[in-house]
Amino acid sequence: MSASIEIDNVTKRYGALTVLEEISLSIEAGEFVVFLGPSGCGKSTLLRMIAGLEDVTAGTISVSGNRVDTLPPGKRGVAMVFQSYALYPHMTVKQNMSFGLENIGMAKDEIERRVLAAAETLEIGHLLDRKPAKLSGGQRQRVAIGRAIVKEPKAFLFDEPLSNLDAALRGRTRLELAQLHHRLGSTMIFVTHDQVEAMTLADRIVIMNARKIEQIGTPMDVYQRPATKFVAGFIGSPA
Ligand code: ADP
Ligand code: MG
Repeated sequence: MSASIEIDNVTKRYGALTVLEEISLSIEAGEFVVFLGPSGCGKSTLLRMIAGLEDVTAGTISVSGNRVDTLPPGKRGVAMVFQSYALYPHMTVKQNMSFGLENIGMAKDEIERRVLAAAETLEIGHLLDRKPAKLSGGQRQRVAIGRAIVKEPKAFLFDEPLSNLDAALRGRTRLELAQLHHRLGSTMIFVTHDQVEAMTLADRIVIMNARKIEQIGTPMDVYQRPATKFVAGFIGSPA
């Protein structure tokens, strides 16, 4: 139930702006990988390309051996959780979590089973009939994760999912994400500009800066043996 992800020589341009240049990276099934880098270095763009939400300019991205650009959205096996949560304001929590499954024509009782199971996992069962406006930031964030879980994806893609939470909640949610990864065994890619999040969550950290990957390694590797001056400065200094 987890996907390997292969990024092969990927370049991304927006018009004259080159955002990513010849990026290559192999992610193993079940790995927790963090993309870490300063704002504007192309983390979200790379994540959106893995999700198939954005075209690559050159190169290829495959999930479990299948090129994402050849698969329809429902068949890519990945689910993305956005920084803004992107919940539908006019729908209840339950409807928000069901929507993506109804869209692909899943049977009602299977949708019900998945939504209730995810709600129990995330302890949001008592919120199912509420609308997003009546939820706290932390609760919205759980619903956004719940909406990904019900898809039973082989890979979760998180784009700075904790950055809108206060420090205490951020710490607790970080722990819960680690537990979720342990329980589900899915591949997880987590984007952040926060060194502490990266060091505590990652099996491997991919440090990005200005169109390139600076270093790929375990938290210990990048901390003890930074490959470049940039890595040494970025890991060494707090956010
Ligand atoms: P990060 O997530 O690391 O902060 P992004 O991937 O969002 O970085 O953006 C990388 C660069 O690409 C930035 O310079 C940003 O302005 C630019 N960019 C992102 N999306 C678009 C877009 N749709 N059109 C033009 N430029 C974009
Ligand atoms: Mg971003």
